[in-house]
Amino acid sequence: MKYLKHDDPQIAVLISQEAERIENTIDLVASETHMPQSILEEMGSVLNHKTIEGYPGKRYHAGCEHVDIIENLAIDRMKELFGAEHANVQPHTGSSANFAVYFSVLDIGDKVLAMELSHGGHLTHGHFASMTSKAFNFEHYEVNLETELIDYEALAKKAEEFKPKMIVAGASSYPRVIDYERFSQIAKSVDAYFFVDMAHIAGLVAAKLIPSPVDYADFISFTTFKTMMGGRGGVILCKKEYANAVDKAVFPGTQGTTAVSNIAGKATIAKLAQEENFIEVQAKTIASAKLLAKALAEKGYRLVGGGTDTHQVVVDVTSKDLSGSQAEKTLESIGIITNRNYIPKDTGRKASGLRLGTGPISVRGMEGDTIVKLANILDNALINYENQEILSELKKNVLGICKEFPVYK
Ligand SMILES: *Cc1c(COP(=O)(O)O)cnc(C)c1O
Repeated sequence: MKYLKHDDPQIAVLISQEAERIENTIDLVASETHMPQSILEEMGSVLNHKTIEGYPGKRYHAGCEHVDIIENLAIDRMKELFGAEHANVQPHTGSSANFAVYFSVLDIGDKVLAMELSHGGHLTHGHFASMTSKAFNFEHYEVNLETELIDYEALAKKAEEFKPKMIVAGASSYPRVIDYERFSQIAKSVDAYFFVDMAHIAGLVAAKLIPSPVDYADFISFTTFKTMMGGRGGVILCKKEYANAVDKAVFPGTQGTTAVSNIAGKATIAKLAQEENFIEVQAKTIASAKLLAKALAEKGYRLVGGGTDTHQVVVDVTSKDLSGSQAEKTLESIGIITNRNYIPKDTGRKASGLRLGTGPISVRGMEGDTIVKLANILDNALINYENQEILSELKKNVLGICKEFPVYK
């Protein structure tokens, strides 16, 4: 960073402090990971110079001979990785990918059926604070409050009554697998498009460890920076018949120029995702989530959805008389980074849940006994959240684990 140290020493210091924070804390945020350094190199490369509009071979500026090849590589590799008919790799992030999917085939005011936010859905699934709810007429389905699993019977009934033009599956906070076949049957029965937002779980799907929606969905979106490990960005996959509509909805529909550096990251992760190391990390991610869930359940924590099939463990911390916010802050104070989350039973503004993800710790190589140790530390901190002495002891333990498993060697 010699140039940055010269031009802006203040930011240079903050970046090195952030690097230290990453090394010296344990990241259990379900929507984060640690990127391969090759992808960080791409993101800081000269690829940031090129302004591109349009698609390979059909640009609005000259000088695209190299970046066209990069974008085509990203497209071809994503198609191959997921077995998809078409891929658009230009979305800046998951939300912009979702906007483009909606606008590809829907008109303003059209009806969309998606998952309720507090039951696991995402802001871009028609939450009142999101522009999606201003553009389209959203109705929300919920999980069964007993099982906290999607109630497919109720979903089918709701679809029958509401007659949406699109049904959205996929969630930000839902630890179990989703039955895409069932969803697609329901969508077909009411003549609705079927859109799967697999933002969180794309890496697990890429590694073929959980079911893929590709055979069932008309449209799929995902982010490349959660379990996918490919740097910040979004991707849309779709059936061939919607390829043109999707491309137009991305550019010029909802975006202008896009970031070639990020597209390079998408190309590289789609290559790495076919290799052993990536698949191993994803397998560890699921195994460790199951282990963490089991250890916490044994300590008396109530798990939302009764457990996990993915990288997520969603804990109802009110089962230990804490709020999500208290739990998040307590853990942060000892160097464990998490986030509070709404869970299905929440009706007010206070979140009762703590959402945990095992992606980043799996990249670092933590597994097995270390996960059990982590569960013990977590529990110890939460039950002693007012005891500074115990907390500072636990903070030392966390730091010890971090030193044992560096993010970047
Ligand atoms: C993270 C996420 C997105 C995308 O969010 P961005 O912050 O815009 O990248 C979209 N849908 C779901 C379900 C998500 O979890």
